[in-house]
Amino acid sequence: MLKSQNRLALVFFPAFDWAITPTHPEREERLLYTWDQILEEGILDINGIEVYNPTIATEKDIQRVHFCIPDVRSRVPQPHLISAGGAIKAAELVLKGEADKAFAMVRPPGHHAQRVVWGDRGFCIINIEAVMIENIRQRFGHKRVAIVDTDCHHGDGTQDIYWNDRDTLYISIHQDGRTLYPGTGFPDELGGPAAIGYNINIPLPPGTGEEGFLYVLDNLILPILEEYKPDLVINSAGQDNHYTDPITNMNFTAQGYAKLTQKLNPDIAVLEGGYSIEGALPYVNVGIILALAGLNYSNVVEPDYNPEKLRQSSKTMDYIKRLCDKIYNIWRNREVIRDEMIKDQKYILRKRNVYYDTDGILEKQTQIFKICPDCSGVSTIESESDWGAKIFAVTIPRDACEKCFNEGYRLFEEIEKEKYYRVYLQDKVNDFFSSK
Ligand SMILES: [Zn+2]
Ligand SMILES: [Zn+2]
Repeated sequence: MLKSQNRLALVFFPAFDWAITPTHPEREERLLYTWDQILEEGILDINGIEVYNPTIATEKDIQRVHFCIPDVRSRVPQPHLISAGGAIKAAELVLKGEADKAFAMVRPPGHHAQRVVWGDRGFCIINIEAVMIENIRQRFGHKRVAIVDTDCHHGDGTQDIYWNDRDTLYISIHQDGRTLYPGTGFPDELGGPAAIGYNINIPLPPGTGEEGFLYVLDNLILPILEEYKPDLVINSAGQDNHYTDPITNMNFTAQGYAKLTQKLNPDIAVLEGGYSIEGALPYVNVGIILALAGLNYSNVVEPDYNPEKLRQSSKTMDYIKRLCDKIYNIWRNREVIRDEMIKDQKYILRKRNVYYDTDGILEKQTQIFKICPDCSGVSTIESESDWGAKIFAVTIPRDACEKCFNEGYRLFEEIEKEKYYRVYLQDKVNDFFSSK
């Protein structure tokens, strides 16, 4: 019997009864073909690979990460709670030592869900990786985490959630935002005042193939991880860079995804996007599974695979090399850049608009980050939806000093409740959430 090198846990939740609409790219059968392929290839007969059911994320799990308006119960449908619970289960198995690695093959995805949740953006309501990470930090002690997001779309939600947290390094490789939803993810989006340089965006040109992706991994991502030394590496394993994906323009392959997984060597992979449900997902998922298990994946090949057709131009490769140099320089100079950006400011104010494409909601946000020499600093969000309501939210960071901790509670108590639809407090020191 074939035996895997790593004990691999697969958490599977296909959400067969849930879709945005029957013809929407994020629909029921996204994982059906993958499951068939897993059975057909005999993956479940391999000694060392086990399948597990997800748990269900709780209201408290969601409140650690999000401000759901008006609340978790009315905003988050059950399949999203199970998808996030699947990610939690995957991490739990690794942290309890029951598996060496885990892959949460779940849907719906989550990486476009930001801290504030008025509705669905990019098929995401809650950020399943962030819900997972904050759950395990509560149960297994604080962990320094690196998230490497290989979905074709910029993970603007994960970026937003960890914007001011230097203990969560966020690295996203994606198709350039000038050519794809959500239109963000540029190298100058560096992070909030407490974490400048710890948000790393690598926007790649349309048509990038295996060579380009693996170049970025070898020459940029792996050297940064080597220096950052995270306790855990999480891969937001979106599969829509595939050359057959209907909603993107990249040229990545199943072999490429498997090689990337082997080199990145994540502790936990969580499925994000990927909408070529027949042509890509079965092959990419099996490639990732074999790579995580430490098995030979060289036979995982799409039926219409033609490396000649997918070769990148030398112009594209030159562009990618220059981009990697530029981003690596930012990383190396992050302390200097931070000093220049902050100077003697006490607060950093950030205004932005967020569009909920699936629900057609436009949100206007003002974030204020306090700059504190002793901690990450208390932060607030004032947010208004074009449907008419306005909220105010206070976050006390995990590492809050006494001054910032007290300021957070003072802000929450003194705010004029009448001016807002809801006022929220997220106290990450005590893992406590309140609203009024
Ligand atoms: Zn995507
Ligand atoms: Zn402080």
